Amino acid sequence: MARIFNFAAGPSTLPLPVLEKVRDEFVDYQGKGMSIVEMSHRGKVIDEIHNQALALIRELLGVPASYKVMILGGGATLQFGMIPMNFLWGGKSCDFTQTGAWAKKALEDAKKVGKVNVLWDGKADNYLNLPDPKTLKVSPDAAYLHMTANETIGGVEWQDWPETGKVPLFCDMSSDFMSRRVPVEKFSLIYAGAQKNVGPAGATIVIMREELLERCPPSIVAYLDYRLHAKENSMYNTPPVFSIWMIKLVMEWLKAQGGLPAAEKLAAERSKLIYDAIERNAGVFNCPVPKACRSKMNLVFRLKTEELEAKFLEEAKKHKLDGLKGHRSVGGCRASVYNAMPLEGAKALAGLIDEFAKKNG
Ligand SMILES: *Cc1c(COP(=O)(O)O)cnc(C)c1O
Repeated sequence: MARIFNFAAGPSTLPLPVLEKVRDEFVDYQGKGMSIVEMSHRGKVIDEIHNQALALIRELLGVPASYKVMILGGGATLQFGMIPMNFLWGGKSCDFTQTGAWAKKALEDAKKVGKVNVLWDGKADNYLNLPDPKTLKVSPDAAYLHMTANETIGGVEWQDWPETGKVPLFCDMSSDFMSRRVPVEKFSLIYAGAQKNVGPAGATIVIMREELLERCPPSIVAYLDYRLHAKENSMYNTPPVFSIWMIKLVMEWLKAQGGLPAAEKLAAERSKLIYDAIERNAGVFNCPVPKACRSKMNLVFRLKTEELEAKFLEEAKKHKLDGLKGHRSVGGCRASVYNAMPLEGAKALAGLIDEFAKKNG
């Protein structure tokens, strides 16, 4: 078996040493005579793994002590609903930046609960641009401002953060979580589905300023209640133990690589290799996103014609580069280059872009 370079947007490539460790430890976890997925989540082994995962996230991202770190089920999509149900109840209104497909999903759920004021909408630019955060006029009475750090489908990524004063800033960081340093204290709530950068699907990391919990509604069903998850150290019900184990292993791997400064440097190098290849082959390839907001995680690009795109994707597969088809809603091509994508993968893709342009220019 030969591993390919997997450019899929999510679930996506994970570090090979982690996959190998999971394989080796899966059936009999460290001499316990059973697998992680067969053990009680109330036992010592899972408890330790869970706490180590939380501690590593806290350490690597630099999360202050006044924040709770939780790992919940339900994907980032559950947060789209949980956030308004906890913080937008009772006739409140919130602010949103409408930056693409993921912001829209979060926004549509928020609208079902309360009022949504859209501060900026990328529609006129076909969601291929982002606002200058300094120009955003946050409503003083907003319950929060919700933003999406990186639009996984559109390929746009915020380079700087808005100043929101007393208004809490909430951010969906699903697709660039742990890929760069982030000033956590600017945010009141950060959430990220695991399956883009930190593990397998089925778990979502929620990082929340503890004082925010006072704003939860007096009554809400158990699983949707952040207070309960915070109180029970995200072990109120059976947590996604397999995902949590893998998140812990990926975090250990990331720490050994040099943590977020190293991840950030590698992300810059990888994305530069590919964007540069697109630029120097401008007759055949083009990136529709302006340089100032190009994502370092999800690189979208087009070829001259759809026929050429299909041919390029075929050619890529032959070179063991897969997952490059753009999202079905927008077409084109997309290279997702998360933390676990080695520089060699980016070099291979850049090389193929050069070669393909030469033959088809
Ligand atoms: C993938 C993704 C989601 C949805 O995550 P699920 O775990 O599938 O619910 C939300 N936001 C962003 C930015 C994403 O990339």
